[in-house]
Amino acid sequence: MKRELAAAVRDLASYMRSLDEDLAEVPPRPAADLPAGGERRPDAISALAGQVRSCRKCGLGYARLNAVFGAGSHKARIVFVGEGPGFQEDHQGEPFVGRSGQLLDKIMDTVLGLKRADVYIANIVKCHPMKNPETPEAHGNDRPPTQEEISACRPYLDEQLRFIRPACIVTLGSVPTKVLLNADKGVSLMRGRWYDYPVDLFGPGHPIKVMPTYHPAALLRNPNLKRDTWEDMKMVRAFLETGRIN
Ligand code: SF4
Repeated sequence: MKRELAAAVRDLASYMRSLDEDLAEVPPRPAADLPAGGERRPDAISALAGQVRSCRKCGLGYARLNAVFGAGSHKARIVFVGEGPGFQEDHQGEPFVGRSGQLLDKIMDTVLGLKRADVYIANIVKCHPMKNPETPEAHGNDRPPTQEEISACRPYLDEQLRFIRPACIVTLGSVPTKVLLNADKGVSLMRGRWYDYPVDLFGPGHPIKVMPTYHPAALLRNPNLKRDTWEDMKMVRAFLETGRIN
């Protein structure tokens, strides 16, 4: 028991150190080995990305600089879902760039042994919600998406999930957690447990598992949240390694 406790403490200390940018990286763990999904037609996801790039189903489509469809492996066993693009993402057309994205990369690498190319990263809404849509070049112009914007964009995410067929989703922050799980509680009350994705994409008995955790931006603001995130990611790692929820 003592030895296990000491090992857990060492593990945690190692993780905390790795999230400080000036310290050495921890060697990655092996990637998950779960059954592959069904047949995927590459043209289907390309066509969907094209639809998103020209979409004007909600007002965000008129102010964005770039739609941010999503990025990563179309055979990923895990999909990370955030709220929506911010300034950097809008400018680059990629999800989770900037400091939050770097921290997400580090968490994936350190705890899951996965690179960005091994997973898929997407958002609830694909275009940048701005306080003032007239000034996309302004910093500090972000706002959460409205219910109408979420409802308009949500079908795109389900189409992505249907195509990728992931084993699990990790929701990053309160907005994607509430939206994907039809929940009214924030991430701090939802995290640390597995849920079934309530949308039946692959027939009865094949739910995608969902693990809520904190958004990397929240960890940058409050490093005390790293410990809980580490616990959540350990549960994800165990699921990807064994295919079971303990
Ligand atoms: S946020 Fe979604 S629904 Fe709205 S314009 Fe962009 S892609 Fe279309």
